Amino acid sequence: MTPTHSLADDIRPTGFTCLMCGGCCSRGGEDDGMLVLVSAPEIRTIMDSTGLAWDEIAEPYPEWIPAEGGGQFTLAWCLRRTETACIFLGDDHRCMIYPVRPLICRTYPFALEEGRLSVYACPGIGQKTICTEAEQIAEECIQRDAAEATDAERTREVFMAMDLKPNEYAVVDSEGVKRIG
Ligand code: SF4
Repeated sequence: MTPTHSLADDIRPTGFTCLMCGGCCSRGGEDDGMLVLVSAPEIRTIMDSTGLAWDEIAEPYPEWIPAEGGGQFTLAWCLRRTETACIFLGDDHRCMIYPVRPLICRTYPFALEEGRLSVYACPGIGQKTICTEAEQIAEECIQRDAAEATDAERTREVFMAMDLKPNEYAVVDSEGVKRIG
């Protein structure tokens, strides 16, 4: 049995159908930051598809860490948000960048964590999932896991070579150290 088939067998009994509620793309309340992580390659894919600039698509993950020699850094990008939702959520609750949405959006509410299936809260859980959808979700979970591992390794290499000056703010990603402001 392939890893995809095996994972699909784990997903199928959970059952899932997207109900188009828009909940996973919206902020639930004041404390809900709704941070959707997006990698540097994924941002470039969205740029190519939409014509938007990097900064129009993504913002630094809002967890700033003091660097040893001064300055502060964060280790990820997330999709820009309005006060209520992801900027790409349409009025009809459809994703406006559906064909190029990040892997985290493709796999939600499922994820592989340390090789095991995790299932996050979602009103679509428990709905009937047809066979091919479980296979597709499984395949995308495996793709996401591999992409995240590669991204983390490259980001670690960039981080090891980082040389921030005091008062500098930067996002460290798989492409390099991107100074902000
Ligand atoms: S990119 Fe699309 S699927 Fe992902 S959070 Fe935004 S609107 Fe939702």
